[in-house]
This record gives sequence, C-alpha cells and structure tokens, in this order.
Amino acid sequence: MDTKILELLEEYFDEEFVLVQHDVAALEQLVKEKMQLLGQGLFQRAVNRQPNGYKGSSITCKCGGLMRFVRHRCRDIHTLFGWINVKRAYYHCPDCGRRLFPYDVAGGLGSEQISPQPAKACCLLAVDDSFEQTSRKIDKVFGQKVSANTIERLSNLIRHISSNEEQMRYDVFREKGYDIGSGAVGGACKYVVGKRLKQSGMIWTRRGSSSILALRIPWLNKKWDQLWENKPLAA
Ligand SMILES: [Zn+2]
Repeated sequence: MDTKILELLEEYFDEEFVLVQHDVAALEQLVKEKMQLLGQGLFQRAVNRQPNGYKGSSITCKCGGLMRFVRHRCRDIHTLFGWINVKRAYYHCPDCGRRLFPYDVAGGLGSEQISPQPAKACCLLAVDDSFEQTSRKIDKVFGQKVSANTIERLSNLIRHISSNEEQMRYDVFREKGYDIGSGAVGGACKYVVGKRLKQSGMIWTRRGSSSILALRIPWLNKKWDQLWENKPLAA
C-alpha cells in the first residue's frame, strides 16, 4: 500500500496505538476495527460514485415492451464491513408491471439486505451448522450480526442448477467411493443428508431440507464457487 497513506493513518490513530503497543493481541483487534471502519467508509464512497444500474431513460423489457427509468431508490446492504446504503436505478414496465434494478441483478443481490460476501460465508457455515450456530460464528469471526432467521431465509434462496442436481449427487457418491446403482446409496444419503438434518431438536419442512441440500451437495462436491458464480441469491 501507498506509504503516504500508511503514514497518514499511523499519525491519525497514533494516540490509540500508543495505548496498546505493549499488547499485540489488543493492537491486532484495534487495527482490525479501524480497517473495518475504513472499509465501510471506502465501500460507501465507491458505491456513491457509480451509475448503479442506470442504463438510460428506457430499456427493453422481457415482455418486449419498454421499461422506463423511474428514479434512483435507496437500499441498505449489510456487507463484511457493516451497513452501507446504495442508490440504484429503478425501472418499471407499464405494459407488464415488471420491476427491475439492474444493479441488484448484476451484483447478485437477492431479496435479503445482505451482500454476496457475508451471504456466502453464512451459507458456507450453514452447510454443517444450525442457523443459530451459524449466526453466532459469523458474529465471532466477522463481527457482524446476522440473525438465524436471515440465514435461514438466505439458504432458502439458493436454488441452484436443479437439473444437474441428480448428476451432482452421483458425483458426490462416486467421490465418496460408493457403488452407484446399489443399496450403497443409503450410506451417502446418511452422510449428505443425515449429518446436518438429523441434529437433535431439528424439525424440517420439505422446502427447508431441500435448501440445505442445495448447499451441502455443491460444497461436498467441491463445486461451491461454481454455485456462487451463478449468483444464486438473485436468481
Ligand atoms: Zn414488460
């Protein structure tokens, strides 16, 4: 990083740094907090500069009609650095009533007020942990409070390439050394399904359990990044 910027920051935080300079753990925590604040401010400024999905006064709608630019609309988004506010272009089609925020679609932002990075981290932990545990771990690791309910809704949004789901499941079975086409599939089911879904006190709806599987299968199959390349929250 630019030495001048570092010198400025060092000078700016000097009084606080001096107080903890004997304690590396406290210093580390302090630097982390400062970086978090700087990141939030920088992120907010960078987001303010962009056209944020504005593509002219009208764009073609899926129905064939014209979507009209209405105005920019604000949205709060929970990021790895805390909350930021984004103004994005809002389009509406008078013919079919469709609404569109091109910025949200391009960035993979779904209906939840959370950006892809923390959403991905939440879903990753939810592969093995309950939503409650996941919420606590996100707080401990990133210092961000995301409720168990939000994490559950996030995982419900993951609707991955379901046509490939069967194939992916077979890939997992093969990888685990199971003999596909025999009763051995039961063993893989126990691993893929049971380990997460049969923890004590857990009651699952069909939708909830299939959402967890939509996370577990790509993770176990080492196709996690591929899943997120498809921007599954905005799909
Ligand atoms: Zn339309």
